[in-house]
Amino acid sequence: MHSPQLPLSFLTSVDPGLPPHAVSRLRTQRLARSTRPFLSRGGPRGERCEGCRLRPSHCLCALRPMLETGAGFCLVMHDAEPLKPSNTGWLIADVVCDTWAFGWSRTEPDAALLALLEDARWQPYVVFPGEFVSPPGRVVHDLAPHEGARPGARPLFILLDATWPEARKMFRKSPYLDRFPVLSLRPEQVSGYRLRRSQRSDHFCTSEVAALCLELTGDTHDAQAGRVLESYLQVFSERYLQAKNQKPPEVHSVAMQALCSAMRPES
Ligand SMILES: [Zn+2]
Repeated sequence: MHSPQLPLSFLTSVDPGLPPHAVSRLRTQRLARSTRPFLSRGGPRGERCEGCRLRPSHCLCALRPMLETGAGFCLVMHDAEPLKPSNTGWLIADVVCDTWAFGWSRTEPDAALLALLEDARWQPYVVFPGEFVSPPGRVVHDLAPHEGARPGARPLFILLDATWPEARKMFRKSPYLDRFPVLSLRPEQVSGYRLRRSQRSDHFCTSEVAALCLELTGDTHDAQAGRVLESYLQVFSERYLQAKNQKPPEVHSVAMQALCSAMRPES
């Protein structure tokens, strides 16, 4: 049984002393609407840091990169996604300052999402595999100026943060996204990433897709943020498993060294 006084997702939360980012705020909103307790997969025991969702002994908050970039991200998240302790959209908000996060709705999209999509300072791209787009005329593979592009606008990558079947449904049923180009990553870019990471699975997590988007803009800050995001995901995954297996955090691991080197400008 759960006591109604306890926070819904994590039994004891620890304040990291950092302002909550967009995904963290969305999680708080989502929890407030929750009618039943949502327990993270680790079960009801133990405490977690509110800033990084890891156990306090494995907290990553001191390493949160918070980089200024040319491109921004707009995460449109399926219902329970912000509550999942392994959600990697969270990591994008840790790395890229200009990250927004909204809960998905087919019929009642968030007014702030619609305002962002209208903002002339940003050029939205819906990131989605081209082979599932019909008609295919909306599909682009790079950020070259296209018809109707907003002059001088910064790229805004819209990521549908969900399981693959949910994301397909969201893509089909979000009429407010239909007027924007669909950015489909090229197979050679995807296979280059697989080689770097010896990643065999066909499915990329949201932060991996974001890192690949950051490679495309031609902006050196974005390229660095992409490298940081790649290694930050490795560090997060490593800490997550170490905590789960009750091992101490490894501060000089290969992943930690890669993150430190990516954080150095012009590495
Ligand atoms: Zn933390």
